[in-house]
This record gives sequence, structure tokens and C-alpha cells, in this order.
Amino acid sequence: MATSVDKTLAEQGVQSAEQVAAFFEELRARFDTEVLAIQDEASWEAVRHAWQGRKSGIFVLITDNWLKKANAELKAVVGQGFNALRKYVDGRLAQLESEVKAGTEAWENVKDRVDLSLPGVVRPLGSRHLIRQVFQEIEDIFFSIGFSVVEGPEIETPYYNFEALNIPEHHPVRDDMDTFYMDLPKGSPGQLLLRTHTSPMQIRTMEKQKPPVRVIVPGRVYRRDNPDATHSFAFHQVEGLAVDTDITFCDFTGTIEYFVKQFFGANVKTRFRPSYFPFTEPSVEFDVSCVFCGGSGTTASGTCGKCKGAGWIELFGAGMVDPAVYGFVGYDPKKVSGFAFGIGIDRLAMLKYGIDDIQAFFQNDVRFLKQFP
Ligand SMILES: [Zn+2]
Repeated sequence: MATSVDKTLAEQGVQSAEQVAAFFEELRARFDTEVLAIQDEASWEAVRHAWQGRKSGIFVLITDNWLKKANAELKAVVGQGFNALRKYVDGRLAQLESEVKAGTEAWENVKDRVDLSLPGVVRPLGSRHLIRQVFQEIEDIFFSIGFSVVEGPEIETPYYNFEALNIPEHHPVRDDMDTFYMDLPKGSPGQLLLRTHTSPMQIRTMEKQKPPVRVIVPGRVYRRDNPDATHSFAFHQVEGLAVDTDITFCDFTGTIEYFVKQFFGANVKTRFRPSYFPFTEPSVEFDVSCVFCGGSGTTASGTCGKCKGAGWIELFGAGMVDPAVYGFVGYDPKKVSGFAFGIGIDRLAMLKYGIDDIQAFFQNDVRFLKQFP
């Protein structure tokens, strides 16, 4: 039977000091259990009231029912047990009161300082670099006409970068393609260099694959150029290669024109000029009508500065694959034909988006980058 403070000890059969002590022990345990429920001022007040309440608190009832009505032999023991319990309960309640109030005040302070209706912290999101976006645009256009994308190593051997592309040692074109060579330990079997164009992947692709071949090769390339508004030691290209048994110069010009009109808009005009590259024959430079003056060579403020009044802008080099190149990859030059082109991505992006300094692509200034989300 649970200890009751509504009845006298005698009514509950208490006759010894040990029984009195056990009764007070049980009350202390009951108090400890009730204390666990205290979380704020209201729940603290409920416990305080139950024990210290002036009219029907447990202390009042103990005084009335246990202490005053105890028989003479037990009165002193009940008095001692009661004092010990009261001291314990009073102490714990005072301690809990300060804890509860400190917690509440801390909460009130936070509420005053923080405006909970304000929006949260918005972290700035990054975006793809403009060069990467232009890569994607170009890939989408060539995907739509049956090309696939391959990528190759940025560190190449002279064989793939030069010789297999019909550029033997001491060929004057190597002067234009001066690049960075790896500092290899003595006794290494050969040289390694940073590729000067994406063209080595023409060779690597044809070595692995029989015709038909239709690939584009996006990537970063290197040359030993001093940085200025139009030069950088690192820049970007998309190489293109199509080889099959029946590819003509018409397929070549049609493909290039399709690409340029998709990229710059249907209104641009295009033209070819004869040119020279060691790995194409015939070779052409591909021009587009100036996108800044509409091809007229003049703007409202006079001569167009972008095309210097010519009305044309040089876009990239291309041509029919030189039959000599097929000899390096085991294709029969009498049976296959094809075309190749190398598009400078930085230049294309500068033209399309009106950027006049190639260095902006490499400086990673957020004020520049965020203009192309
Ligand atoms: Zn112009």
C-alpha cells in the first residue's frame, strides 16, 4: 500500500522508527520522479504547489496528519524525517527555479534579438563557366547531325601532336605551335608535350575505329603565347573529323555552314578562303559576316572596330583531310575521304557574347562569371 499523507501513521500501521524512515524515503522518491517532468516555469510551479502549497500541500498534510498525531515515542523520529525531507525538497525546488528562469530568460532574449520573419541565409549558387556553356552549345549542334564526342589527353607525344598529322620535325608550322615540353628524367624513351591543338585525337580516333568516323573533340590546348587581349598560353578548341567512303567537299561546306548558322543565327553569311594546313588538302579559312556590323563594315559611329571595316571575321581553319594522314592510321587513301576542322572556342565565345579580352575567361572574376548564369 502506498504511503498516504491523508492518513495518520497509526492508521497505516506504522509502529517503529524504521517504518517512519521508510515512509519518508518513499516520499523523497516520489518527489524525485515528479521533478523529472519540470520543463518550464509552469511545470515547476505545479510541483512546488503540490509540495509547499499552504492549504493542501504535502508538507501541510504531513504536519497535520503525521507529526501532530504521532504518538509520543515516534514524534521525535517523525520530526527529524520531516525536517530532512523538507530541506531536500526546498533545496531542489530553489535550484530548479533558477534553472527554469535562466532558460526562459535566455529564450526571451533570443526572441528579442532575432527577427524570425526574416528570410534565411541565401548561399550563392555557382554556374557553368561560359567556355563550358559554349562547348555544350557546339556539342548539341553536332549531336543533332550525327557526330559523337571523344576526349583525349592534354599531355601528348610529338608523334600524335605533329608527325602523324603530317608535320615532320623542322616543318616551319612548328614555329607557330611552340609549346611546353615535360621535364623528363634522363634516359626517358621520348619527349612529352602539352598538346597545341585537339587534332591528335583525329589520329587516336582513326587508329581505333574504322570508317565511318564522325567525332568532335572538345578540350583545352596550350601554346607558348604571351598573354594579351587575344592570346593565352591555354585556350580551348573543338576539333571535328568526318571520314567515310563518299564524303565530298560539298558535305564539308554544308556541315560547316549548318553549324555556323545554328550558332550565330540564320542571318550570317559565310565564305571560304584558301589557306594552308599540313594535315588538310585543300585547306580553307572559314569567315563569317561580322556579327557586330551585320557585314556592312560600318556602324553608327563609323568604321566597325571589330572587323576593321572588312565586314568579315575570320572564324577557324578547316579542310579535306590530307591523304598522307590516312597513311599513319592504316586507312586506304584511295577508298576514304573526309574533312576536319578546328574551332577556337574562346574566340567564338568572345564574338558571340561581345567579350573583348580573352583573359576574362581565366581570371574567374565573379562579376564577369555571373553575367552568364
Ligand atoms: Zn564589323
